[in-house]
Amino acid sequence: MKKTTQQNQTRSKFYVTTPIYYINDVPHIGHAYSTIAADTLARFYRDKLGKDNVLFVTGTDENSQKSVDAAKKAEKSIQTYTDETAQKWQGIFDNLGITYDRFIRTTDTDHIATVQDILQKVYDNGDIYKGVYEGLYCVGHEAFMKEDDLVDGLCPDHKKAPEHIKEENWFFKLSKYQDRLKHYILDNPDFIQPQSRRNEVLSFIETKGLEDFSISRETQEWGIRLPFDDSQVAYVWFDALLNYVTAAGYGTDNFDKWWPADLHIVGKDIIKFHCIYWPAMLWSAGLDLPRQVFAHGFFTINGEKISKSLGNAIDPTELVQKYGNDALRYYLLREITFGSDGDFSLQRFNDVYNSDLANNLGNLTSRLSTMLIKYNNAKYNEVKVKPRYEYEDDITSLKFHTCLSELFSWLDSLNGAIEENKPWELFKTDPEKTVTVLSAIACELLLITKYLEPFLPESSKKVQAIFHNGVITQNSEVLFPKFD
Ligand SMILES: [Zn+2]
Repeated sequence: MKKTTQQNQTRSKFYVTTPIYYINDVPHIGHAYSTIAADTLARFYRDKLGKDNVLFVTGTDENSQKSVDAAKKAEKSIQTYTDETAQKWQGIFDNLGITYDRFIRTTDTDHIATVQDILQKVYDNGDIYKGVYEGLYCVGHEAFMKEDDLVDGLCPDHKKAPEHIKEENWFFKLSKYQDRLKHYILDNPDFIQPQSRRNEVLSFIETKGLEDFSISRETQEWGIRLPFDDSQVAYVWFDALLNYVTAAGYGTDNFDKWWPADLHIVGKDIIKFHCIYWPAMLWSAGLDLPRQVFAHGFFTINGEKISKSLGNAIDPTELVQKYGNDALRYYLLREITFGSDGDFSLQRFNDVYNSDLANNLGNLTSRLSTMLIKYNNAKYNEVKVKPRYEYEDDITSLKFHTCLSELFSWLDSLNGAIEENKPWELFKTDPEKTVTVLSAIACELLLITKYLEPFLPESSKKVQAIFHNGVITQNSEVLFPKFD
């Protein structure tokens, strides 16, 4: 714990990434989740370290067989399909108010150059050799599978039989890095978080061991050509992981500023790629490892797994049209402990919205401004307030739910202070004290919205515009209208 805090204090830049999303996926709140978490941290660090010292990257993974299949199905050329779909993804994140610094596509020219350069380095380093791959491959996963991964002959996640593949491929010597990786994880307890994922990776290394894996495909046309064998394209994961390096400005003067990444936010289903393949690839290319990989959990929708066949994927765009961006951010970061699994239900979403945002934050803002307008000519005294809760350690260790729960109970206590002091009665006997009480509450509310800014950027700014430099701006807009 101490180590994390120390790291944060000495941190002069912050580079955070989300997974890049398969372009053929239909964007749902699961994708919004990783991206909103990264956005929250990017906003926090921009305020702390300065805008120029934060890099936040998200984007799309396009060089996969899945893209080819989806383009065919849509009767479009692969180029048209990926261009149109990437734009759609980017538009969704824009609508959600995501402040990425770069939206990377694995078809970007600089990324192709990065992948080829690194492949060449790894090859020159003697870590790539030719072999025959024969076995099972799940296109849904873009990964090789073993018989014992299957349930009734099908991939348990994709409910499809994997393809049987036999081809001559190039292999990466992952096995060479097994001991080094194990010791690195043991020596750097913060490298993989949360703890449960760290244990999972360690146990994988200890029980299954690391096997070399094929990093090229012979039969696929679409993808990045190997620099040392242009008859093959790079395996999509080898290509995709390198997006983090490309976006840091690999090959330019900026690279030393940003690399290594401070944090990769990933879903728990892709830790093998990020915590086993990725470190070995970086070592082989002579690059440092990211400071941390943090795997978040999954959530169910009304207790059910999100799935195409159930048709229960929730479109984040629809949700924010009704409730606003901050409501979605609040629910995802407050209701689900980051790193654990959780559940999403529209009923619960609506209840939390009404109780915490409309009744607590929204109501406090509106009562307070109305009373100050009435009792003190739309003014309040600016007084220094002592924070009842310091949130920096919690936000930097990704305890978003703790931050929000603490800040909202602080808001609760401000609502309680109004009830207790009854300004509407107090004003009759002691107008001066009424103003003192209300001013103190207004200044505490402002401090809370300062802390809430990374989480609820839109409403924090609205509150700050209402209470500004000792003056209340008359504002008839309801921050959070209530919904049944
Ligand atoms: Zn699969």
